[in-house]
Amino acid sequence: MDTKRKTRVVPALLVVLALVALLVHRRGGKPAMDRAEFVTEFPIFGTVAKVTLHAPRAHAMQATKGAMDRLRALHDTINVFDPESELAVVNRTAAAQPVRCSEELWALLLAAKWAYEETDGAFDVTIGPLMTLWGLHRKRETLPSDEELREARLQVGFDKLLLDHEQRTVAFSVPGMRIDFGGIAKGYALDLVVQTLEDNGVRCGLIDLGGNITCLKEPPPGRDAYVIGLRDPFAKSRLLRTLRLTSRAVATSGNYERQIVIEGRTIQHIVDPRTGQPVANFAAVTVITPKGLHSDVWSTAIFVGGQDLAEQLVRTVPDTGVVFVTQDEEGTPMVRTLGSVTLSTP
Ligand code: ADP
Ligand code: MG
Repeated sequence: MDTKRKTRVVPALLVVLALVALLVHRRGGKPAMDRAEFVTEFPIFGTVAKVTLHAPRAHAMQATKGAMDRLRALHDTINVFDPESELAVVNRTAAAQPVRCSEELWALLLAAKWAYEETDGAFDVTIGPLMTLWGLHRKRETLPSDEELREARLQVGFDKLLLDHEQRTVAFSVPGMRIDFGGIAKGYALDLVVQTLEDNGVRCGLIDLGGNITCLKEPPPGRDAYVIGLRDPFAKSRLLRTLRLTSRAVATSGNYERQIVIEGRTIQHIVDPRTGQPVANFAAVTVITPKGLHSDVWSTAIFVGGQDLAEQLVRTVPDTGVVFVTQDEEGTPMVRTLGSVTLSTP
């Protein structure tokens, strides 16, 4: 999430998107007037959020506004492009002294702690120094040396994060540590949006936070489910499969979006915190589960931990499924599923 390149590109992109896309409301479709489709798009977390609700217009507007406010509060807390954001301050100062956290940041840190424990350390928000090491935060021309790798690994590990639950403070026990919420923020945010919409009495709609998707309990008027496409990781504009869902979150971790090449070696943007190495076990891992937080965390974690971790997930979390995409020798995508998931061919 926090690359130097992005420091320049993302704010510019956000300004453009804000001008072009802020509050693009669209009413349409044939459904009854009281359930017309209400679509809002806006920039957030370096991507575009799309909220599609089926509710009376005034109702949908109010609920969407509530969701946007909630998302912005979270965004402002963890925006690493703003040096004054709470997370930026933590990353800069928590090695020197404990930093007292807002409720917002504390709740996310607790979610990150849960994620670390639940995935046996495959998911770890202290991954920051390894992301930098592998050129995933700022461009580098050469592969890291063994010495650099050793040093970065010493700065990574959730167990090196000191959380004082009474004081609600966070401290780094090793200088150079850095928190990166890139693998959890969107999923966590999805659950906040669902909560806000439900508090506003909205039961029918779909939220897309840059590919992290949640659909609400009731299907769109006249249909029995939401149709969500899974993109072909090898041909981004092509749909590989579709899912028909209600009341589920879907997140994909893939190698197709953010990989880089250094000295001829392809580096994926997901790193194994335990070995310090970027992982390339799959082309894509999709997790379908009731909670947005779970889908985001587990898709990243299973990308690292593979089949064993996927089995652990479907065993422990009800109504959860995993889709793996790999490539056979001829380069054809191969799709495999585990747990509670039914795929259709588009
Ligand atoms: P995306 O953000 O592209 O939707 P993911 O949800 O899989 O994809 O998150 C990838 C991001 O998560 C990386 O860009 C990085 O910020 C962070 N990350 C990478 N490896 C890990 C890991 N093992 N544990 C936690 N976060 C990670
Ligand atoms: Mg993720």
